[in-house]
Amino acid sequence: MIYRQVFDVINIGLVILDEELRVCYWNRWMTMHSGIESKDIIGSPLLGFFPDIDTKYFNRSVRSVFKFGSFVFMSQKLHKYLFKFEKKVSGFQHMQQSVTIGPIKDKDNTVEHLFIIIQDVTEMAAYERKLHDLNIKDGLTGAYNRRYLETRLKDEFDRHKRYCHALSIIMFDIDHFKAINDTYGHQCGDFVLKEVSTTALDTLRVNDTLARYGGEEFCCILPETTISSAMMVAERLRKNVESQENRFANTSAKVTISLGVSELCEITDTHEKLLKKADDALYKAKREGRNRVVSMSLI
Ligand code: GH3
Ligand code: MG
Ligand code: MG
Repeated sequence: MIYRQVFDVINIGLVILDEELRVCYWNRWMTMHSGIESKDIIGSPLLGFFPDIDTKYFNRSVRSVFKFGSFVFMSQKLHKYLFKFEKKVSGFQHMQQSVTIGPIKDKDNTVEHLFIIIQDVTEMAAYERKLHDLNIKDGLTGAYNRRYLETRLKDEFDRHKRYCHALSIIMFDIDHFKAINDTYGHQCGDFVLKEVSTTALDTLRVNDTLARYGGEEFCCILPETTISSAMMVAERLRKNVESQENRFANTSAKVTISLGVSELCEITDTHEKLLKKADDALYKAKREGRNRVVSMSLI
């Protein structure tokens, strides 16, 4: 193939397959990332070399290329990758790929071969992910920000209305946090905030959402959770924070938290009201002496 000199230096993967999905061409880029030399794969069925490929989806795609001469685009957002190549970039374990599969027609317009073009979009996907995180997460603690919390709460509220699932929230605030800053310094205060946030993330379930609501105030959304279960989670969280050491520059800056819990019920008809109830319960916990859990049903 006279174009090989070009195809072997371009920074994209190029594979050509025949109708039996045997490899007819394998460019240098594919060798670099797969470790498979062109001479070892040419003439062999592609899928035999890549057992991780979703065979059903792949076969359906290539069939439409052969049958209709159409193009198939596999976006990174939907498919992540076609070929599983190792590449570790900020949270990704494998190379993220944008893939195009298209027909190669011969003189009488029949499709006897197809090409696969693979673009490495890992860096772009990592950048997009970072931007997305910046938009929805709090920079200091890694918990979600208040804007995201409000959107999420609204979504959960709509789901509750549709399916009548239980929905509870916990609001908590660090007790006498000002004294931590005043005694040990602002840096130590920041460290404690991060530690409390980590403990909360470890205590909650994966489907729960933790957000930093204000300075040292957090809010957790607990989908499909009744108030009695939410009270148990809140009590576990209170104990976990109380027992954590928060070791910072040879000091132990121990803290406690006060928590307010509320559940969405028929008369509580807006998500703002749900927040307000939890906030009222939290301030009742503060008034009653701090380091305790109060539920809205006790108000
Ligand atoms: P209470 O038990 O009533 O909650 O008392 P408190 O001292 O925690 O409450 P207060 O609202 O008086 O103080 C909150 C403090 O949190 C004041 C503020 O400087 C501190 N704070 C808010 N955000 C941050 C932050 O990002 N880093 C640090 N280090 N401190 C913060
Ligand atoms: Mg406080
Ligand atoms: Mg506060």
